[in-house]
Amino acid sequence: MNHTQRNNSEARRSFLKSAGVFAAGMMLSPSLSAANNSHPSTALGVSGKPAIMGGSPVRTAGWPKWPIWNPATDEKRVTEVLRSGVWSRANVATEFETAWAKALGVKRSLTVVNGTNALIVALNQFDIGAGDEVIVPPYTFIATISAVLLNGAIPVFVDVDRETFQMDPDKIEAKITPRTKAIIPVHILGLPCDMDRIMAIAKKHKLVVLEDACQAHLAEYDGKKLGTIGDAGCFSFQNSKNLPIGEAGAIVSNSDVFIDKCFSYQQYGYPFGTASGGIGIGSTVLGTKVRTSEYASAIGLSLLPRLEQETATRNENAAYLKSKIEKIPGIIPYKLYPKANRCAFHLFPFRYQKQAFKGLSRDAFLKALRAEGVPCSSGYTPLMDMSFIKQAFESKNFKKMYSAQELDYNKWAAQNKCPNNDILCNEEAVWLYQYMLLGTKTDMDDIANAIAKIHKNADQLSKAGK
Ligand SMILES: *Cc1c(COP(=O)(O)O)cnc(C)c1O
Repeated sequence: MNHTQRNNSEARRSFLKSAGVFAAGMMLSPSLSAANNSHPSTALGVSGKPAIMGGSPVRTAGWPKWPIWNPATDEKRVTEVLRSGVWSRANVATEFETAWAKALGVKRSLTVVNGTNALIVALNQFDIGAGDEVIVPPYTFIATISAVLLNGAIPVFVDVDRETFQMDPDKIEAKITPRTKAIIPVHILGLPCDMDRIMAIAKKHKLVVLEDACQAHLAEYDGKKLGTIGDAGCFSFQNSKNLPIGEAGAIVSNSDVFIDKCFSYQQYGYPFGTASGGIGIGSTVLGTKVRTSEYASAIGLSLLPRLEQETATRNENAAYLKSKIEKIPGIIPYKLYPKANRCAFHLFPFRYQKQAFKGLSRDAFLKALRAEGVPCSSGYTPLMDMSFIKQAFESKNFKKMYSAQELDYNKWAAQNKCPNNDILCNEEAVWLYQYMLLGTKTDMDDIANAIAKIHKNADQLSKAGK
């Protein structure tokens, strides 16, 4: 018996022992019968045929809608802005920035058009560009990597730890070269990276740390809000994110000088604060224009007061759901670093191991789970399989900035292979969405029961090729 098999059979024994607790049709315990009365749809579904094979689904009720918008409380600020006719950046943007900085316990916050441009502006103002290497995780959204490329720097991948889904700190130092200028820890899915380790490595090698906290609103590591631990942090307020504005993002930092420079750059390079230049009127530096609008900021101000309670609810429900599903063989929920004391749970991740499900493919598992009324996703596909990095290497600008040897894409791809990331993307990762965690414990029971029902029927599903 190998290590994995032993773990699985141990997990199975403890699963059977505790089946009464979460009663996923393994046996009908008194606690389940009690639950039946209050929640008949669950009981019906759990004991029956998989929904994808014609049985009744564990859950027929919907899920909380996202974004949550309450006209009575949320529209006042937005209407005021619309009626004022002041729509370009002014006082409401400043008010939102002050409120966001306060929520994070950080000195300064600058709002821009979106998270992608927050990253682009921040990297630019850290003077990261041609000839520089930036350490990034492969398990992230495209924008983390494109922000590096758009500034003319080269991304260097550090593989993920499959247990935490985060950049593996043990693998960072091997990737540092004399050209390395920065690390972008991405708190992916809203779970904290191992910031103590990353900050120590950055200090030793004098690297900038730019946190991509675009999924990590109000999450904490060692009591500090994510995005405020490194030299700067970036946030996204895109529609799906935990603080949704539609299109907006923020750069936060404890450095006034840095935020002033970013402010100048995101508004035509005009003088701002300590980035004054003092050359009379006009732009002091070359800048772009990615500033926010007043109505975006008004939406942010309307929804920010709810974020704290929503984050607490997500953490509570996630812990409960985790405790239930980790007992199911072949379901391995996220692990947290010791000092990761609060998550944002933009997504709730677990790893699916098909060996424990009679070889049922992850795709078939996801389809079966959706049929039971539980939305879910397989998450990211490997960025390396997309053509945008190669395209950047072949661009006119890159050819002026780098030698042909430096732009040997195949060589770069070989050096940046990330086998753990490939396993997560192609085989194991399953995501549940943040809005699902805003419901009740009964909702979490439904998710756990649906997964357990699929596990119970894995043989049948696998044979049916479902
Ligand atoms: C959403 C996201 C971004 C980009 O933010 P936008 O507001 O969509 O531009 C960057 N990084 C990560 C990890 C994200 O999830």
